[in-house]
Amino acid sequence: MSKERVPIREGCFVEEKNGSHLIATRCKSCSQIYFPPLQRCLECYEKDMEKIELSGKGKLYTYTVIQMPVSHYKPPFALAWVELPEGVRVFTQLKHWENTELQIGMDMKLVIDNLWEEEEKVVYGYKFEPSS
Ligand SMILES: [Zn+2]
Repeated sequence: MSKERVPIREGCFVEEKNGSHLIATRCKSCSQIYFPPLQRCLECYEKDMEKIELSGKGKLYTYTVIQMPVSHYKPPFALAWVELPEGVRVFTQLKHWENTELQIGMDMKLVIDNLWEEEEKVVYGYKFEPSS
């Protein structure tokens, strides 16, 4: 029996065969964009927020490689901030980074991937990987 797949967080990404994407909210008053999505703008306290799709591509802003086990994750794994064209920085795990020389500013793309497995379920979410 295959395990149930459960998203790590509802409503912040969409998995599609031809182009998964992240979901953000944008303030209708001041246009500030938030990821993960917020219900209220932190800049102007507006409550009228609209959902938008973010680009599945971005650039590596900064990263670190973790050498210690952390909750579900076995070392080494890489955590990064990826900057999207919309001006949003996304905190994310990296995938397929082990054989790449990571460089600040390099092109990255969104992937939907399993994060960890439990007895009855697989928890999945978003990661970014080098796109070249
Ligand atoms: Zn606002």
